[in-house]
Amino acid sequence: MPGLSTMQCNMADIHSFESFAAVDGEGIRYAVFFTGCPLRCAYCHNPDTWHRSGNEMTAEEVFNKIRRYKPYFRNGGGVTFSGGEPLLNSDFINEIYPLLQSEGIGYCIDTSGSVELTDSVRHSVDNADMVILDIKFHDAGKYKKYTGGDIEKPLALGRYCTEKGRRLVLRTVIVPGINDTEEDVGEYARYVTENGLKFEKYELLAFHTMGFFKYENLSIENPLVHTPALEAKKLNELQTYLNEILKSQEG
Ligand code: SF4
Repeated sequence: MPGLSTMQCNMADIHSFESFAAVDGEGIRYAVFFTGCPLRCAYCHNPDTWHRSGNEMTAEEVFNKIRRYKPYFRNGGGVTFSGGEPLLNSDFINEIYPLLQSEGIGYCIDTSGSVELTDSVRHSVDNADMVILDIKFHDAGKYKKYTGGDIEKPLALGRYCTEKGRRLVLRTVIVPGINDTEEDVGEYARYVTENGLKFEKYELLAFHTMGFFKYENLSIENPLVHTPALEAKKLNELQTYLNEILKSQEG
């Protein structure tokens, strides 16, 4: 194991941990949720990660929690850094990486990509087993309107992953009345293809209302309080449609 005495000592504000998470990467995952996010997505189901929790931890402390789950990481499992926005904590991820590496534990980054592409962020991406990147909207106006962010940032991250040959999975949350038509899905396919992103998979996720109670508890206005969850049938239809378009674009 690398000498801990030579380590930097970045602290990160941790929202929570989730053991035996089966999503957000391959195999059994141990998810680390950081607090802090530069976006304010209208459909966010984790508004409780926006602000600091006060649970400050060192990389060594987080590593010691992760290490206990090592026996379960067979078959491609490992850690998933999520949030909030994990890449706001790229220095922390870069500090924990040699510790994980010493135990043969890999990590995925589940990111909105809404960060500057600094050397530190590049380094975190370079060492990741996989990057799961949100493609929130396919045009700058909607991206700004529904997230408050700049669409160019995730695109730059996706292009960097592509240039570096990193394993990339794209994700889009489908919200009724906002981006739930075949036309929308076709535009997403066109957007990622025309921008040259190379990815293993493009997954659509259903908007759900399970996080609504958090807005109430935090006294935050919920802009989609009257929006229903997306039905599974509709999601499946749109995913099938997306897969067909992407396949036809390959040919
Ligand atoms: S990027 Fe994720 S955590 Fe941040 S506001 Fe959007 S949905 Fe919420």
